[in-house]
Amino acid sequence: MLICRFDNERLGVVQGESVVDVTSVLSMLPAHRYPLPTYDPLIAGLPSLRPALEDAARHGERKKLTDVHLLSPVANPGKIMAAPVNYADHLKEATDTAALNHGKKIEEIQKVGIFLKANSSLQGASQGVRLEHPQRRNDHEVELVVVIGKAGRNIERARAHEYIAGYSIGLDMTVRGPEERSMRKSIDTFSVVGPWLVTADEIPDPGRLDMTIHVNGELRQQANTADLLMDIGALIEFSSSFYTVQPGDLLFTGTPAGVGPVQPGDCMVAEISGIGRMQVMVR
Ligand code: MN
Repeated sequence: MLICRFDNERLGVVQGESVVDVTSVLSMLPAHRYPLPTYDPLIAGLPSLRPALEDAARHGERKKLTDVHLLSPVANPGKIMAAPVNYADHLKEATDTAALNHGKKIEEIQKVGIFLKANSSLQGASQGVRLEHPQRRNDHEVELVVVIGKAGRNIERARAHEYIAGYSIGLDMTVRGPEERSMRKSIDTFSVVGPWLVTADEIPDPGRLDMTIHVNGELRQQANTADLLMDIGALIEFSSSFYTVQPGDLLFTGTPAGVGPVQPGDCMVAEISGIGRMQVMVR
């Protein structure tokens, strides 16, 4: 199932070129009182809401996908985790590690660790990216995003799939410079997630997805998730050895070679097989 959020906080199920409005299902979520939970209630409730979503998708109002304004499919993630360099070709681009073997490369990644991006930087495909520092170099990083489905800590790699609600395309936007990653990658609008969430049952092998990003029609990054140094299971094992992961937490899995600058007015088109394609404008 392809789940999106659109327009004025509507919930939708994507079918072909249409979005079916299933917002009515949100009334089944538990009413929360202050203090609010530190996880996303919709993603936490997804397994039990599935029959109601399927039913609502048969009867809801239909709109053309091209007529809706797409928001981030997860509204309230507790945290946005991100892997640093996680493809051998980009590691080579970023550091002098060409000579290292696979195990040593993973050690290099683990030395840097998983970092966090501010939740306030989260943005949907139709909302676009706004450059706050256009005089500096601002880069696109296309990445597969894993949406965590249930709470866990010290999750073993072999069982990591049980903790995945689904997948989206992510843009880990970055301003280059000396500041901490968490600051340079947390500027408002710098964590684009979309165009929707594809539930995990639709993607049996997330370790074999083609990924591209074009900027103004020019191919900038192209990879397959088979080339991830730390695969999704390993990333969840590593992350959850530091953080309790919660439903709705987002995990950016790292970007391949070819990151490059964008300018106001640029049009980024990111695509991952099995998920779809999202167009994101730069302002
Ligand atoms: Mn990244």
